[in-house]
Amino acid sequence: MADFKIEHDRPGCIGCGACAAVAPEFWIMSSADGKSDLVGSKHIKEGDAIVKEELEMVDLKNNREAADCCPVNVIHIIDLKTGQKLI
Ligand code: SF4
Repeated sequence: MADFKIEHDRPGCIGCGACAAVAPEFWIMSSADGKSDLVGSKHIKEGDAIVKEELEMVDLKNNREAADCCPVNVIHIIDLKTGQKLI
């Protein structure tokens, strides 16, 4: 059972690469549009565009750091036990 959910509001990503630098096992940069992608996540789409990526996790690992270093705050972490948005 997952304890956390990572959300990536992908349209707002400016492709700075910080998340992929601090948590490369989870974040990769897309060669298609230069934005980052959350590896293994569920994609929520509108038409062909990914509007959100979601990944449930037991352990945050480096994703808290990835969320903290995102300059446009498009990475969010939700505690699934309390429903609280941590960032
Ligand atoms: S740190 Fe934020 S803006 Fe930079 S690539 Fe990752 S999600 Fe996009």
